[in-house]
Amino acid sequence: MTLIPNKFPPPPKHPPPSPPLPHWGGRTPTRQLLKEPSKPEATFQDSSWASRPNPEEVLNRLEDFFPDHDLDKPVIEASSGGTSPTAPESPPAPIPYNGKAADKRSRHKKSIRVVAEEHNLRQDRTSRMQSSSAANVFRKRSTKLWDSRVEEVTPGQITSGMPSIPDSPSASGTPAPKPIFKWVRGELIGKGNFGRVYLALNATTGEMIAVKQVEIPRTASDKNDTRQVTVVEALKLESETLKDLDHTNIVQYLGFEETPNFLSIFLEYVPGGSVGSCLRKYGRFEETVTKYFTEQILLGLEYLHSKGILHRDLKADNILVEKTGVCKISDFGISKRTDDIDKQNVLTAMQGTVFWMAPEVVNTGKRGYNSKVDIWSVGCVVLEMWAGERPWRKEEAMAVIVKLYSSKQAPPIPSGVTLSPQADDFRRKCFAMDPNERPTAAELRKHRYLNRPPGWAFSDFGGSQEVTRDDSDDE
Ligand code: ADP
Ligand code: MG
Repeated sequence: MTLIPNKFPPPPKHPPPSPPLPHWGGRTPTRQLLKEPSKPEATFQDSSWASRPNPEEVLNRLEDFFPDHDLDKPVIEASSGGTSPTAPESPPAPIPYNGKAADKRSRHKKSIRVVAEEHNLRQDRTSRMQSSSAANVFRKRSTKLWDSRVEEVTPGQITSGMPSIPDSPSASGTPAPKPIFKWVRGELIGKGNFGRVYLALNATTGEMIAVKQVEIPRTASDKNDTRQVTVVEALKLESETLKDLDHTNIVQYLGFEETPNFLSIFLEYVPGGSVGSCLRKYGRFEETVTKYFTEQILLGLEYLHSKGILHRDLKADNILVEKTGVCKISDFGISKRTDDIDKQNVLTAMQGTVFWMAPEVVNTGKRGYNSKVDIWSVGCVVLEMWAGERPWRKEEAMAVIVKLYSSKQAPPIPSGVTLSPQADDFRRKCFAMDPNERPTAAELRKHRYLNRPPGWAFSDFGGSQEVTRDDSDDE
């Protein structure tokens, strides 16, 4: 049995609603120490519920998020910043220069600030057009970076000789060189088991993106450090898994870069927080918010399973939430692609985080496990949203392993939580001991418990203090 290092405790309890703390994307407050002391904590504070600011807010305080860079130095080819090499649409109309942007413009190159401002203006226009024409929530799409070269613009980099983006094959018929994307690394926004996540800017298009990085082991002793090697392997696996996925409820993978020092994967930037960080900040959610989030998690999972991928580490900390309430499954570090997602014996490795683990993962025996392990974890995430605390709140990891292994118990309903018959039926279905009796994500998504009041729309968490859950639509 293999265990991913550090996927075990510390067992986080979501503390009760408390004064807003600076949050590190769902991490415990001690994680703030990750940040260099010279940089103000206030950077990530925000008057609303979310801990990661919107791109527009980042733009207004660019120097806080990209403190190491000269944001007004012209470093980006002036031909870029208006289109993306992979975008199917025609380039947007030129943006009129005014105000700050105009001052900062140079003849041939643009500063990072100008590129970001121009992108923001285009976004504004697009979302205005969308909101007047469509009732649906506008899905912002970030530019995918594959089939391109990706180059980091480091602070103080010499600016001359930067290649521009070739946009058509050469006349000789030889394939055009790969387009080049420049990117700029900003502040640390999260740290988990497999690396550090930074806010970044695609300096070619002006989009805010996220970059997850691990250091490549270089010295002999690093190469012997199994943890460091595992971490690099995990990030490569994550990149492989995410590459082919494209769904609103899955964090969008954008590309990959390997340098002698770092392995980086580029992801769409998800402003907001994680379900875990929101629970820590607000306590348990209002019932309808829980239903709304659960439905989205199941939509993402249904898609993932249809692609033959098991996530294996679903938990509140790995579900990112935008300020609009859109949820995105993230962190594919221990996910697994299989040929037959339903076949029971496909996998035997014990992986994941114990408190969210299905019994058949702890005790695979000869039977192994399949996609139904993720359904158990969905049950655990719903329990977290109902209770505002992690599953098995009162237990340590070893005790939970024993309970799952020998006595085949599901996580208890936390004290203070009363479930309606529908909510309880939903819970029982997720925690069916026999994985074959657990519904698929598609089936569970249709469960009556998830029905929301007509006309309901997400606006905020409204940290609910209700104790009786879901009385409104009992059978
Ligand atoms: P790990 O495998 O190390 O747990 P995660 O992928 O869960 O790493 O990322 C760690 C943290 O970084 C997350 O909890 C979240 O706060 C932040 N994060 C990760 N991806 C993004 C993203 N695409 N946008 C914004 N923040 C992110
Ligand atoms: Mg994580």
